[in-house]
Amino acid sequence: MSRHDLVIVGAGIVGLAHALAAARRGRRVLVLDRDAAANGASIRNFGFVTVTGQGAGRVWQLAMRSARIWAEVAPAAGISILQRGLLLAAHRAEAEAVLDAFAETEMGRDCRRLAAAEIAADWPMLVPPRAALWSPHDLRVESREAIPRLAAWLAAEHGVTFAFGTAVHAVESGRIETSRGTVHADQVIVCPGDDWSTLFPALYAEAGITRCKLQMLRLAAPGWRLPSPVMGDLSMVRYLGYAALPQAAALRTRLEAEPEAAAALADGIHLIAVQSADGSLVVGDSHHYAPTPDPFASDAVDARILAAYAELLGNPPAVIARWTGTYASASGHSIVRTPAPEARLVVVTSGTGASTAFALAEETLDEMMGDDS
Ligand SMILES: Cc1cc2nc3c(=O)[nH]c(=O)nc-3n(C[C@H](O)[C@H](O)[C@H](O)COP(=O)(O)OP(=O)(O)OC[C@H]3O[C@@H](n4cnc5c(N)ncnc54)[C@H](O)[C@@H]3O)c2cc1C
Repeated sequence: MSRHDLVIVGAGIVGLAHALAAARRGRRVLVLDRDAAANGASIRNFGFVTVTGQGAGRVWQLAMRSARIWAEVAPAAGISILQRGLLLAAHRAEAEAVLDAFAETEMGRDCRRLAAAEIAADWPMLVPPRAALWSPHDLRVESREAIPRLAAWLAAEHGVTFAFGTAVHAVESGRIETSRGTVHADQVIVCPGDDWSTLFPALYAEAGITRCKLQMLRLAAPGWRLPSPVMGDLSMVRYLGYAALPQAAALRTRLEAEPEAAAALADGIHLIAVQSADGSLVVGDSHHYAPTPDPFASDAVDARILAAYAELLGNPPAVIARWTGTYASASGHSIVRTPAPEARLVVVTSGTGASTAFALAEETLDEMMGDDS
């Protein structure tokens, strides 16, 4: 492998986002991944680029910027944007209060509360909510197709070189030791997701990073089309853009007093439903934390996800696929560390990589290379 300006370790969305930002600055980029194709969190997620609901301030701004980059990159890379926007549906009075409070924030400025007649006309598949807020900012791609397409486009249009099947064992300034020999580069960005045992384990330990395991379901096409991804009451105590509002406390108290909702909260369940090109629905998710989570999907957890689905969208269609995924998890949005002068470790630690990686990568590149785009 010849010399490159920049080597990136990891071909998930965080690595690809950094490859794009560097290629746009004219750098010769090599991306290394130990797997034959990206197989981590980035292809297991909803593909939901969520803006509304992200934590106020920096994370929301990263998501706004990243959604714009997705909207620009997707058509060029042959990636379909399958859905746009987000519908936040409130079924409890306390959830309606959160929704109203959110609408008053800066983040709610461009969102629109829907009238009952509009909900009935455009969202007949919903169990009629008390209130609903529509956000225009968000979008959805099919990650398992989008991530390989993004890599192929980076290679074809931006001259990025990919070496899959290449495990990286050690990184020093200017020198990367891999399973296929030594690679030399001026700079290195390491984006290994939740693999903390191979590179810089001490930095992961210092940051208090653990793993979060999620259960996901694909449901058969229900015979209708969701105009946008949907979230409900449980999301309003999980997503910080809502959960940090004072009104969310009363909603949490109410949910904890309901046995079914309390059981869902104990499993970290909230409901996102998105729809694919063939009409099938991707539905989830749950959150369980452990340094090495077990790989087994619990049927009881799936049943609770389906119960949360039923509250929002009625009788669920048949489950046609089940999978688990993990991501790196710590208290903040992400960590960026400098293990050697011309090396960075970049890890999204909040389950928002699809929504924020493009903008985070621009920040990393500005810091490492200066704003010479
Ligand atoms: C089920 C699920 C649902 C989610 N839903 C959403 C969502 O709707 N919206 C959202 O924004 N986010 C969501 N997330 C979070 C998001 O998917 C992650 O934040 C993001 O994918 C992390 O990307 P990454 O590139 O850091 O990690 P990964 O996708 O895991 O990629 C890391 C890559 O690094 C490679 N690698 C690691 N170590 C080495 C090494 N030593 N040598 C070579 N290669 C190495 C791995 O092989 C892997 O390909 C979800 C996550 C999951 C699991």
